[in-house]
Amino acid sequence: MDKEIYALLDEKEKLPKELQAKELEFEEKKKSLLAIEETYKDLLKQKKDKELQLGTKEEEIKKLQSQLYSLKTNKEYSTMLQQIESAKADRSALEDKILVILEGVDRAKEEESREKERLAQEEIIFKAEKKKIEDKVKEIEQKIAQLDVQRKVALQGIDAKMLAQYERILKGRQGMALAPVANSSCQGCFMNVTHQVINEIKMYDQVVTCGACQRILYLEDDTE
Ligand SMILES: [Zn+2]
Repeated sequence: MDKEIYALLDEKEKLPKELQAKELEFEEKKKSLLAIEETYKDLLKQKKDKELQLGTKEEEIKKLQSQLYSLKTNKEYSTMLQQIESAKADRSALEDKILVILEGVDRAKEEESREKERLAQEEIIFKAEKKKIEDKVKEIEQKIAQLDVQRKVALQGIDAKMLAQYERILKGRQGMALAPVANSSCQGCFMNVTHQVINEIKMYDQVVTCGACQRILYLEDDTE
């Protein structure tokens, strides 16, 4: 029973770590969405900047065009025309850049909704795994509680001093206080057990412990 209880406690102890690992894994998956959202925000900012630049450029073109007819000489006129053409070329370049940014915005938006969908699926999987682990913990706790009841029943009538010795070894040896002797060795630590010790066990007038691991020794196939 104690062996079983210790194995269950051991299993129970590992489960929160397992849950934590799955939680971290899920959090890691959320990072991809954050990266897409960052790209999206950045593109919107770029779009705003370029639109402002475009507005300024358009003002500049209007201003130049309005000045065009007040000019006195042909040379001034052709210089101004060149300036206007150059500003228009700048405007066209800005418009092209805005188009490229807009395509990026659309792509990021699509990616964002795809990623959100994927994460929603991941969340369903994660929550199911979480519930499975939590259920397992409950199940283990119930089993331990049952074993504790059985253990209390089994303890009735056992000599207190012997029980104290057993409990001490149990704690020190992680749930295995008793060890059978087989092939002249302790099956708890696999160290050699002498014939004299085996004979002492067979006498059944005292508790015989392993010299190496201190576990209480017994003979499994001893019909006596
Ligand atoms: Zn031993």
